[in-house]
Amino acid sequence: MNDSEKQTAAALEAVRRAAVVCRSVQAKLVDASTLEKKDKSPVTVADFASQAIVCAVLERQFGADAVVGEEDSKELRAPENSGLLAEVVAQVGTGLGESVEESRVLDWIDRGGADASSGRYWTLDPIDGTKGFLRGEQYAIALALLEEGEVVFGALGCPNLDDGAGALLAATRQGGTSAFDLWDHSQQAGTTVRVADITTTAAARFCESVESAHSDHSESAQIAERLGITKEPFRIDSQCKYACVARGDASIYLRMPTGADYREKIWDHAAGMLVVEAAGGTVTDVNGEALDFSLGRTLENNRGIIATCGPIHHKVLEAVTAVRNQSQEIFA
Ligand code: AMP
Ligand code: MG
Repeated sequence: MNDSEKQTAAALEAVRRAAVVCRSVQAKLVDASTLEKKDKSPVTVADFASQAIVCAVLERQFGADAVVGEEDSKELRAPENSGLLAEVVAQVGTGLGESVEESRVLDWIDRGGADASSGRYWTLDPIDGTKGFLRGEQYAIALALLEEGEVVFGALGCPNLDDGAGALLAATRQGGTSAFDLWDHSQQAGTTVRVADITTTAAARFCESVESAHSDHSESAQIAERLGITKEPFRIDSQCKYACVARGDASIYLRMPTGADYREKIWDHAAGMLVVEAAGGTVTDVNGEALDFSLGRTLENNRGIIATCGPIHHKVLEAVTAVRNQSQEIFA
């Protein structure tokens, strides 16, 4: 195996092992197992377990690599959360197929707390779309590898896509985007996926966040109208939106900023961006700028996201600009 094949094999194993645990926790989700994060998004046992599992698999294969993940173990170490910690440890043991010590699990979670912005490092969202996860709907395990600020590998595990059959997409710049069976750990060769083959915006189907706090639904409705899109938006949580564009289930993903201050997080977009681009699509921010992954944990220089199947990208950007200019005039 060459280095690229080793990375893909390790990442597929990590995402598959995490997905098994996420699926089983979601199936028996109870409110008592959620904590409140400062940003009010719920954190679950599966969130911590998923980060520990992915970091454990990566540590075994690539011990020196840093991981920039969404979670840290601070709250889990608090005495009042000992029950939660015990549950996380049990889930990590199930995911890795071996008994594991509490201290190792906490260390794995914290391995994901790196603040890298140069060299080679992974970025992980152990459960992207926590709100969807808690509603029993869509979420994704998103893992990407960055080298000097460029995304060179991305994997998206989407356990509830395809009516619960699940989907796993992985991408490299040279190798394109491939789909794998999420549950068959032995499957190493995927099948190539491509974006939708459409050239007119009226034929497009667009997707966006379920959460109106994450993406401005009224702006996207105006953009869709300008583009002659009559189909209802396809609302779906998490980076499953990127998976849908990469596979051609949708041809536009609009993430319209809801305020001036929010900065997108790298783990929410790195894997998804590459999965779409390597499948033939185009990804920029709402100003048409390339996403800049070289600045640490956030996409400091970007606002919002526009992902498309490619040929219609400039038309979509024109409509985005027109609608944004119009709303600025109204509020000026
Ligand atoms: P989605 O499932 O597409 O709605 O996106 C979920 C992600 O939105 C979470 O992982 C958060 O990191 C991110 N998020 C939280 N607040 C905002 C916001 N105000 N604007 C955009 N994204 C946000
Ligand atoms: Mg996320």
